[in-house]
Amino acid sequence: MQILDGAAVRAEILAGLKPRIHKLDRPPGLAVVLVGHNPASEIYVRGKIKACAELEIFSEKITPPESVSTDELLAIIDDLNHRPEIDGILVQMPLPRQVDSRRVLEAVAPDKDSDGFHPVNVGHLVADRPAPRACTPAGIMEMLKYYRVPIDGRKAVVVGRSDIVGKPMAIMLLHENATVTICHSRTTDLAEECRRADILVAAIGRAGLVTSDFIAPGAVVIDVGQNRITDRAEAEKFGRAEEFDRKGYALVGDVHPLEVMHAAGAYTPVPGGVGPLTIAMLMANTVALAEGHA
Ligand code: NAP
Repeated sequence: MQILDGAAVRAEILAGLKPRIHKLDRPPGLAVVLVGHNPASEIYVRGKIKACAELEIFSEKITPPESVSTDELLAIIDDLNHRPEIDGILVQMPLPRQVDSRRVLEAVAPDKDSDGFHPVNVGHLVADRPAPRACTPAGIMEMLKYYRVPIDGRKAVVVGRSDIVGKPMAIMLLHENATVTICHSRTTDLAEECRRADILVAAIGRAGLVTSDFIAPGAVVIDVGQNRITDRAEAEKFGRAEEFDRKGYALVGDVHPLEVMHAAGAYTPVPGGVGPLTIAMLMANTVALAEGHA
């Protein structure tokens, strides 16, 4: 079974961005809005800002308090929309309960939408027009291209229908001429649907849900899940006791890491598969937006 290495794909994506950045008259600029002190969000944002620094992309972190109102956030976004040195705006999710997340995301100017979440850009995705694309599925497409995984005419099954992963993933595969099935929590006989897949994408958020009986022999299995296992016995079930003992938790995907080995033809491990690609594609979106503003 082939391991699909996200770090190698990430390195190639970033290397391709460097000459494009140097051609611009000024560095691309990314503003990251991080509300409150959600520990996971803080880690993600740190990774995004670090990637900007490595590429000499200007970044600015705006940190409103947990108590921020929708109107206050809208004012912050409006200001960023008008600043010429800012090419991309990213609002780190989730936002606190009192905030109308949809209004905030829709306030980002579509030509500064570095996450590709604005409905205008979702429309562009559906119509297959150039626009910023949701980063995780766009990164998976880059990975499939890098490893020359045939898509045209193949059967793809996407498990998960979220706006940020499942739906855009299915549309991107469709544009590459896969025959696409989208599964979700109400799908009857999920394993049978998945067994049809030449390319199986699991974006569920349930540790190890996809077992060997979901996987056709030789299928390419893309594991988007990032599930933190905080129970040692559970970690042991996934062959991750050693990782648990070292870190106090284990990161497990939606695909059972031991079972996939015997069934799949190729597989993105967790960690180290899809994970590194999301930030790389955020950088790619930001550079493309800056080129559009030049
Ligand atoms: P989400 O919004 O919670 O969506 C999960 C999807 O899975 C939903 O469509 C849900 O169906 C479906 N689902 C849940 N339980 C199911 C089951 N038992 N059988 C079949 N389908 C089921 O999650 P998300 O934001 O798409 O993220 C999915 C996973 O990817 C998470 O583990 C997340 O941490 C990870 N992720 C990783 C990256 C990365 O950079 N690697 C980026 C984003 C997300 P319904 O629609 O019917 O509820």
